[in-house]
Amino acid sequence: MARVAIVTGGTRGIGEAISLALHEAGLTVAANYAGNEEKARAFTERTGIQSYKWDVSDFDACMAGVQQVEAELGPVDVLVNNAGITRDGTMKRMSRSMWDEVIDVNLGGCFNMAKAVFVGMSERKFGRIVNIGSINGQAGQYGQVNYAAAKSGIHGFTKALSQEGARAGITVNAIAPGYIDTEMVAAVPPEVLEKIVARIPVNRLGKAEEIARGVTFLCAEDAGFITGSTLSINGGQHMY
Ligand code: NDP
Repeated sequence: MARVAIVTGGTRGIGEAISLALHEAGLTVAANYAGNEEKARAFTERTGIQSYKWDVSDFDACMAGVQQVEAELGPVDVLVNNAGITRDGTMKRMSRSMWDEVIDVNLGGCFNMAKAVFVGMSERKFGRIVNIGSINGQAGQYGQVNYAAAKSGIHGFTKALSQEGARAGITVNAIAPGYIDTEMVAAVPPEVLEKIVARIPVNRLGKAEEIARGVTFLCAEDAGFITGSTLSINGGQHMY
């Protein structure tokens, strides 16, 4: 039987490329999304991959979402925690709700989703969890104390959970993407983006498929000795 994967935020951007890559690798994929119905419907029509709506920052919704996926597709073997948001602003302008939202979705979502699948993976003695961090969690970024803290937290979360999963055959790894050409980066003003690209040694933005390549590598059957690691995919911009 094909392995079952959940990709959070899996219907557009980097998540869409991850869903497609895992599907092409032979897995049965459930692509989660938050509320952009139009993109989710178009994605499912185009790819045949089922999409499921729930908010990863809502603990009960994650439990119910995983239950639904397991009832329809089978036990979850692979979890890719990709859903993420930004609410940028300098400390002076950052409100408490901008902080909470980013922490709750980016970092809280990883806890909620891992909590929902971890016991089942342990019982079946197999699991692959990949958390999408960020170069800005490794290096920090002006105007992003919330996002940098959440993404940096993901890297600590990964190292801790990998120790708990190791004996049960569950690997837990992170990918730290650099700047990737998605709608999230399209929101960055062009003059700022130009300066960012000038600092990337390969001299371009990354492609979503280049992150997906790392995910399929870490989720492979023969990747069982790779755990607790962070794979930086950033065109050489930051060497951690
Ligand atoms: P996009 O904004 O293009 O897509 C975000 C995805 O996450 C969407 O599918 C969205 O669903 C989903 N999502 C957002 N909030 C929630 C939520 N509360 N519950 C469930 N799903 C949610 O982002 P990217 O593809 O650019 O980024 C993907 C990941 O990669 C993020 O974690 C991001 O932080 C990280 N990253 C991105 C970089 C980049 O350069 N783009 C660089 C480094 C890291 P919906 O469609 O319904 O809105």
